[in-house]
Amino acid sequence: MLITDAEIIWLKEYYPGLRFIKRNSGIIAGNLHFDMFYDEANAKYIINPDSDCHPPSMRIRDSYQIEITFQNSEQDLPIVKETGRRIETVAQANNLSMLDFHINNDGSACLCFIFDKYTYLPNGFNIRDFMHNLLVPFFYAQSFYERDHRWPWGEYEHGLFALFQWYAERKEAITIDGLNQCIDYIKRCKNIKGYKVPTLILTLLKQKDNIKGHQPCVCGSNIKFRNCHPRIFNGLWKMKKDYESINNNYQ
Ligand SMILES: [Zn+2]
Ligand SMILES: [Zn+2]
Repeated sequence: MLITDAEIIWLKEYYPGLRFIKRNSGIIAGNLHFDMFYDEANAKYIINPDSDCHPPSMRIRDSYQIEITFQNSEQDLPIVKETGRRIETVAQANNLSMLDFHINNDGSACLCFIFDKYTYLPNGFNIRDFMHNLLVPFFYAQSFYERDHRWPWGEYEHGLFALFQWYAERKEAITIDGLNQCIDYIKRCKNIKGYKVPTLILTLLKQKDNIKGHQPCVCGSNIKFRNCHPRIFNGLWKMKKDYESINNNYQ
């Protein structure tokens, strides 16, 4: 991933606490100071607001100790780690897992669901969009949660469940390639708490019968699917319809 001189200058100006730890190492580390306001009513945010914000409580100025490792491939997002272990402390205090805070098992931040990447980086990777559309909102949400015990823009599913949330919300028709990518993604997912969720989902997707809302949820909770994980139910239901119509068209 190529970072231009102009981007480095931009980064130094807006985020002076961050710097390359070794020349050409591709690792930026230090303090991320940010100032962001989230306008909840209009679901819009402003970074570095230059006037008063209402309500003022939605403006957060905070900082995190972080490390960003840039990847060689244009396709892969940089790996971001919160090295100050503040998120871990908050997770423990709330008796929640790191995954609930969108920290992957390897300690990297899950900045967005991977299929959603182009929504946040519509012009491909560049440092400004990366910082302002992904990184700063991620840490804003962490600070917000730490203070208010809720997420500013609602709960977001993680990993496999994020796929179905994304699928339920998308408006464009899916292509065969798109559907195959989804299925590959499901196959690559690991079991959740020892429960074979990916296998179960693939079985439901390929079975002849409809998926029923009153059957037990795929998460293994024994609660009705529709009530336990409604967004996953909706996404899977929609994916199954697409799967069937694509298969009918190409037989
Ligand atoms: Zn996540
Ligand atoms: Zn469930």
